[in-house]
Amino acid sequence: MRTMTTMPPDLDTPVQYLKGVGPQRSRLLEQAGLKTAGDMLRYFPFRYEDRTDFRPVRELQDGQESVIQTRILVGGAYTTSRKRSEIFEVIARDDSAAISVKFFNQAYLAKVLKNGSTVIFFGTPRYDRFAGTLTLINPEFELVGDSDRTLHTGRIVPVYRRIGVLTTRVLRQILFALLDQIGEGIPDPLPGDLLARCQFPRLIDALKAVHFPAAAPDAERKRLLSDLQERRTPAYRRFIFEEFFSFQVGLGLVRRGRDHRSKGHRVEVNDRLREKVRALLPFPLTAAQKRVLREVVEDLRAPHPMSRLLQGDVGSGKTIVAVLAAVVMAENGLQTALMAPTELLAEQHFRTISRILDGSGIGVALLTGGIRGKRREAIVESIAGGETRFVIGTHALIQQGVRFERLALVVIDEQHRFGVLQRSQLMTKGEEPDTLVMTATPIPRSLALTVYGDLNVSVIDELPPGRQPIRTVVKKSENRDEVYREIRRQVEQGRQAYIVYPLVEESEKLDLQAATEAAESLSKIVFPEFRVGLMHARLRSSDKDELMQSFARGETQILVSTTVIEVGIDVPNATIMVIEHAERFGLSQLHQLRGRIGRGRHPGQCVLVADRMGSREAWQRLDIMRRTQDGFKIAEKDLELRGPGEFVGTRQSGLPEFQVGNLVRDREILESARHESELFLASPRGARSSREVDLLLDSWRRRYGLFLVG
Ligand code: ADP
Ligand code: MG
Repeated sequence: MRTMTTMPPDLDTPVQYLKGVGPQRSRLLEQAGLKTAGDMLRYFPFRYEDRTDFRPVRELQDGQESVIQTRILVGGAYTTSRKRSEIFEVIARDDSAAISVKFFNQAYLAKVLKNGSTVIFFGTPRYDRFAGTLTLINPEFELVGDSDRTLHTGRIVPVYRRIGVLTTRVLRQILFALLDQIGEGIPDPLPGDLLARCQFPRLIDALKAVHFPAAAPDAERKRLLSDLQERRTPAYRRFIFEEFFSFQVGLGLVRRGRDHRSKGHRVEVNDRLREKVRALLPFPLTAAQKRVLREVVEDLRAPHPMSRLLQGDVGSGKTIVAVLAAVVMAENGLQTALMAPTELLAEQHFRTISRILDGSGIGVALLTGGIRGKRREAIVESIAGGETRFVIGTHALIQQGVRFERLALVVIDEQHRFGVLQRSQLMTKGEEPDTLVMTATPIPRSLALTVYGDLNVSVIDELPPGRQPIRTVVKKSENRDEVYREIRRQVEQGRQAYIVYPLVEESEKLDLQAATEAAESLSKIVFPEFRVGLMHARLRSSDKDELMQSFARGETQILVSTTVIEVGIDVPNATIMVIEHAERFGLSQLHQLRGRIGRGRHPGQCVLVADRMGSREAWQRLDIMRRTQDGFKIAEKDLELRGPGEFVGTRQSGLPEFQVGNLVRDREILESARHESELFLASPRGARSSREVDLLLDSWRRRYGLFLVG
């Protein structure tokens, strides 16, 4: 058995055996994901405080955070009559003056802060009107005893996020003891030659520097403090690098693994097939579409499975590329599944695609959650039997009971809306199928290459011909009448309109109510002469489908909707979109919504109606929307405005989350990590499974395992 007294801890030591941690504390730590000493050491401070600047008591000022070193004169506990809280108060003094220090409900301190002891206090003195003097309330403190090493004061002090009842103070003690005892020789996941080349500190030194920065002379301390806060010290740069590096190496290994696998099917493309594809085309492809289609087909013919990301702004025409790829598969006797994030979109895809493939002899089917009973049975059977070559659906496709005869191509539309698990589940329904993920998303080009390192990326960077620019205007809500006049003008000319209401998660019910009431008054009072429909997620799926079809046919002229129409919906005759409470939407969401219009021959207009109460940042967002229509530019701005902390890891971005790395701030480290990861993978050590690779992969799987596509 391991006992903490006989053996120094190493990185794998369970937290339970660390000094200062018992069964109870270890349970809390484990719940927070800190299972070993190694995990514990990577629980970095979230900020730092400079507690080095001792001040004479006499110079303390109301409201100014300070550190003082004092001797306790006298102390005692009493209870206040009104609030019934127990107060322990001491009078502490240095050479200059005395001050009262009060602790609420911590009577045990009487045993700690004894008369005559020397104590360092850190806190913010307040003027106590009742006593007419300055008082320190619940300050941090430290006894200055035999050991002259102070931990909580007298240095730049790390501040940790508390874990349950484990305060920053407790965590600081645990980490201090751990770093004191742990061996100098703990294994470093970064190879030695790399450390030397990049001039990074060794793991052990970096850990010490991050948790307990060494003392710095007065002149440099301010700088050090701000470097620590901004994660710019050499130690932090190392950890940021390490995070990016292991991510990149992991992606590289996955890609390599895939290139060594061979898929269970073969695809041939001959002249007959080329002719067939040409005959099916509803319109001439743009040059970008042609290029991307060539890239995809080349992958389909290759012996190892395709993993390709197809990026293209909203409306750039990604669907047709997927459809043609599916035709190639079907003609080779293979099946394709296309998964869309909403029923609405799956249904629309099914309609458009059925029309394109009409008469081609290729069996197409739709499978969504709304399809049940006998109909579902028949479809499931036709998929298992292989008569259906192209299945379009929602996550209903990944349900148990859905079996494919020969699933060879998986297409994920609007991939950023899916959980990674859902993607990989669909892939397990085939034998090493080819995968095409499509997104219009908000990932700046600069990041896409790096974070999608395991995918090959194709970009459609051109819109189909004849598109009219969308004019975007911002209106205050009191000018709504003007907006309605514009809608009327367009609808009278035969165009159609969307009016979108936000769904705010706090209260779906209330929001729905707002949309319902608005639809009611719009149809009865504002536009009694037009046909107005209300679309929202709670509608029965057959009703949704019916309403969408009626809007697509032009019968419903104004579609009042929640954000369910955000992705993919394609009705070219709709030319005006009004977004209510636009200040509540994020940039990428606004961009996606706006992408519903300007899809046809007529110029589009997007009206962002905002409350004057919106924040400054909200108005900045609206201004960006007004100025540009380029999805990539908008993504860059989004990243800048929100910062990757919020951008990354959100539903909208599909990017992985990093612990210390910040994809915007640390771009240059990201670049160097990418470069170094390529060198590493090409080296004999990277090629073999070395201890370093194992260490990297281990931490990598723990962090990003599920993010992977293949
Ligand atoms: P997205 O990339 O947003 O998924 P879609 O595939 O839905 O875009 O295409 C948007 C619209 O443009 C559709 O109405 C589609 O029929 C049309 N379209 C796509 N490619 C072309 C093209 N080459 N020429 C004309 N229209 C096209
Ligand atoms: Mg689409």
